[in-house]
Amino acid sequence: MTRNSEALVIGGGPVGLFAALSLLERGVSVEVFDAEGERAVRGYACGLHPETLRTFGRVGLMPSILDAAHRVDRVLIRNGAHVTATAEFGALGGPYPYALTLRQFDLEELLQQALERQGVKVRRHHAITHLYPRHGCVTASGHARLDGTTTSEREPGDPRATRPFRREADFVIGADGYFSACRRALGADLTAVRPARAFAVCEFNADLRKWQRDASVTFAGDGVNAYWPLGSELGRFTFQVWEDLDQPLTLERVRELIRQRAPWFAPNPEQLCWGGLATFEHRLARRFGEGRIWLAGDAAHSTSPIGFQSMNRGFCEGDELSRSIARALFEAGRPDEHFEQFEHEQQAEWLRLFGLWQNPASLPWDPSELAPCIPASGADFEALVAQLGPPSSAGALLLH
Ligand SMILES: Cc1cc2nc3c(=O)[nH]c(=O)nc-3n(C[C@H](O)[C@H](O)[C@H](O)COP(=O)(O)OP(=O)(O)OC[C@H]3O[C@@H](n4cnc5c(N)ncnc54)[C@H](O)[C@@H]3O)c2cc1C
Repeated sequence: MTRNSEALVIGGGPVGLFAALSLLERGVSVEVFDAEGERAVRGYACGLHPETLRTFGRVGLMPSILDAAHRVDRVLIRNGAHVTATAEFGALGGPYPYALTLRQFDLEELLQQALERQGVKVRRHHAITHLYPRHGCVTASGHARLDGTTTSEREPGDPRATRPFRREADFVIGADGYFSACRRALGADLTAVRPARAFAVCEFNADLRKWQRDASVTFAGDGVNAYWPLGSELGRFTFQVWEDLDQPLTLERVRELIRQRAPWFAPNPEQLCWGGLATFEHRLARRFGEGRIWLAGDAAHSTSPIGFQSMNRGFCEGDELSRSIARALFEAGRPDEHFEQFEHEQQAEWLRLFGLWQNPASLPWDPSELAPCIPASGADFEALVAQLGPPSSAGALLLH
């Protein structure tokens, strides 16, 4: 069988779409498969880290992203009502010294359009079920639905028509999310790093004229919460919650959560645009890949939603993998070396993002509480955390 392309990307979520763009930019031919039809995600991961913006800039995405997104200049760390520290994105330098907010749905639209301009259309309703690594290539097999229904619309065993398909490529990037079939094919379970936490996520309209440039992460005895402005009159709060997980999130409940947990926030939400309760695991794959099959994004990890780390780190992983794949295809030398380095770097990075850094005594904050809330990774993460310094006495909750 001849190869269909040099790389297959499994999963047309944000990470898979970007990984495909990054592969194309490096001259690697790619096909993208997604099990479902058009995606119905809403705000979800609505923050883009400065490092993501630099990576997007390299593939020419930034003009359209800047047109659609909202700029955030700093994150205030609060303990209750008191601001105990500030992390300024401006101190990071570079072409995009700020974070952006953009609803995940809108981001995916822009990524998909960019991919289509390069002649690659996501093949939807194509679920990969098996990957067979062979000498020099990978065979992916699965089934394509012919009637256009999505998995959630079907009962198990529903006989509606499917057709088997097979593709062959040099490499596979598995960006197929939390229930990843690619991770299953690798036999690389997700290991729990710490217990799951539940969060209420809501987007609302309010008069936010004075609340446009600063995000806030608030630590208090009843858990962490975060405010991010989304532009114009739209804002987003994420609250750690413990109870009433099956109660719908109403405007009244959002107002009450703000009164109790973020009393410093003066605007009164006028309309709830979207809200949901979800449990977020803190898990990491035992390994990111092997040979010719590699994972990126939620397929390899999940964490707290506060710092938008799982998706943004997924963009870095997709980019690094595309570089390793291009080197393996087009440069002389031992290709395994690049992938081994990738594995090593990602595992180390995630230990840091889970707050499991090697020398906890070097930082006066409790790393496991603080780290998942920082909207950055890598060197930017270090630079933002360095700005926080020792918390003032009002920040004692975060101390070891
Ligand atoms: C209610 C909710 C709120 C959220 N809020 C936040 C937040 O505030 N902050 C935050 O950081 N994150 C949040 N998230 C998580 C965020 O959405 C994810 O981190 C992000 O979507 C990960 O992107 P991804 O591309 O790695 O995976 P996904 O977005 O999960 O995309 C994976 C894609 O792979 C496809 N797929 C799956 N299996 C197969 C297969 N076998 N074959 C082919 N395709 C397959 C799926 O159809 C899907 O399109 C939220 C998630 C939810 C559900």
